[in-house]
Amino acid sequence: MGREQMSLSPFGGKILRFATSLVLPVDRGRTGECLRCGACCRFLFDCPFLREIEGHPGQYRCAVYPIRPLQCRKYPRSRREQAHQPCGFSFEQLEAARRT
Ligand code: SF4
Repeated sequence: MGREQMSLSPFGGKILRFATSLVLPVDRGRTGECLRCGACCRFLFDCPFLREIEGHPGQYRCAVYPIRPLQCRKYPRSRREQAHQPCGFSFEQLEAARRT
């Protein structure tokens, strides 16, 4: 089963995720949790608020987490907008339910 992918350029995808985060909710079928890999915070450019967690190399935190933008708060908002793998979030259960 092929996974639906965005056909936009990386920059176009970032703009789309920014725009949809303003008006659309997180897909109800999203499961899992953030693994703190920081991949989505380093996409196209390094977020200036990204900090490595002391004593945990390769794990990251957000220095402005309580006031982070909607684009970050909702990522990945939907399977279609999920640009990074591996990621701790998944939409597979939702996709399985839609196929039945
Ligand atoms: S890519 Fe996924 S697991 Fe990694 S920091 Fe972003 S949301 Fe978390």
